[in-house]
Amino acid sequence: MKHNFGAGPCILPQKVFKQASEAVLDFNGLSILEVSHRHKDFVEVMDEATSLVKKALNVPSGYSIAFIQGGASLGFVVSALNMMRKNKKAGYIDTGTWASKAFKEANSVGLDASILASSKDKNYAYIPTKYNIPSDLDYLHYTSNNTIFGTQFKNTPQTDIPLVCDMSSDIFSKEINVSDFDLIYAGAQKNLGPAGATLYIVKDEVLGASTSDFLPTYLNLKSHVEKDSMLNTPPVFSVYVAMLNLRYLLENGGVKAIEKKNIEKATLLYNEIDTNPLFRCPVNTDDRSNMNITFLLEDDTKKERFDSLWNQAGIVGLKGHRSVGGYRASMYNALELDSVKVLVDIMKELNRTA
Ligand code: PMP
Repeated sequence: MKHNFGAGPCILPQKVFKQASEAVLDFNGLSILEVSHRHKDFVEVMDEATSLVKKALNVPSGYSIAFIQGGASLGFVVSALNMMRKNKKAGYIDTGTWASKAFKEANSVGLDASILASSKDKNYAYIPTKYNIPSDLDYLHYTSNNTIFGTQFKNTPQTDIPLVCDMSSDIFSKEINVSDFDLIYAGAQKNLGPAGATLYIVKDEVLGASTSDFLPTYLNLKSHVEKDSMLNTPPVFSVYVAMLNLRYLLENGGVKAIEKKNIEKATLLYNEIDTNPLFRCPVNTDDRSNMNITFLLEDDTKKERFDSLWNQAGIVGLKGHRSVGGYRASMYNALELDSVKVLVDIMKELNRTA
């Protein structure tokens, strides 16, 4: 058995893998891979996926859902273009690689975007809290969970400025208040489904309100919402599996229940990192992510043994990102507490036999 701590694409529930594989062979007599996206059977899938997103996140009325291709990287561009208003000014909180890429894209499409706060001075090991938000911004953008550095916003920034959030790596992992946001976007390939679809949750007021001179149809959220995510061929398989995964989430207590489980898993691992003298977490305690836990081995001579122990135990995807080094345990919704216990036991054993 494998324990997949990979950062994404990542683990999904076994039941979802099984149902998805069955549909590859038989989805109402065809394969899900050959069915027309215009066929009523798939239109029903898209409708269900859309309504399950709304249900799982308690999306209030006045918001629309779209599934679009291009990943969160296209979301950087789409969000900037669709949120551009008369001042053509935006503020970004720079909490790591993805946040700074989003910032660069905003400038590349004609916004005067500025970084209001950054944690780059400490290699992104904390979430900045002290910053001024100018009142003339069209919007404020932040990244709720920093997949690479292992930090997470525990509170939504307080502002009257329209808020835009890249939630790629923690959406559906914890309860959120959608009405705090004008626009949320997230690549599917963490807690939603396989890579291919990107989820947008957009306040209806945003649709058609852009002041950008450059807004091709495909980059205009209004075109996708008006066509119920069928402007062009949607990522059929990704949406189908996302729908299965959302069904599974809701059958198992929804976001509230999974949040509890995620906190339990994260607490177990952080406790071990903090009490085991061989390990250290580089991230500020209050800002630690419950999804991606970064940690370092204090004694390099133990590296070979540690790596061989976790490899033998069937753990995969634990190697840290090159910008942080060390290890990263990504613990998305589908990773079981038992997998975290396997890792913690290995860390204990390494210390015992040190
Ligand atoms: N934002 C965040 C927070 C991410 O973790 C990632 C990818 N891991 C991206 C954006 C980029 O996503 P994509 O590969 O879908 O463009």
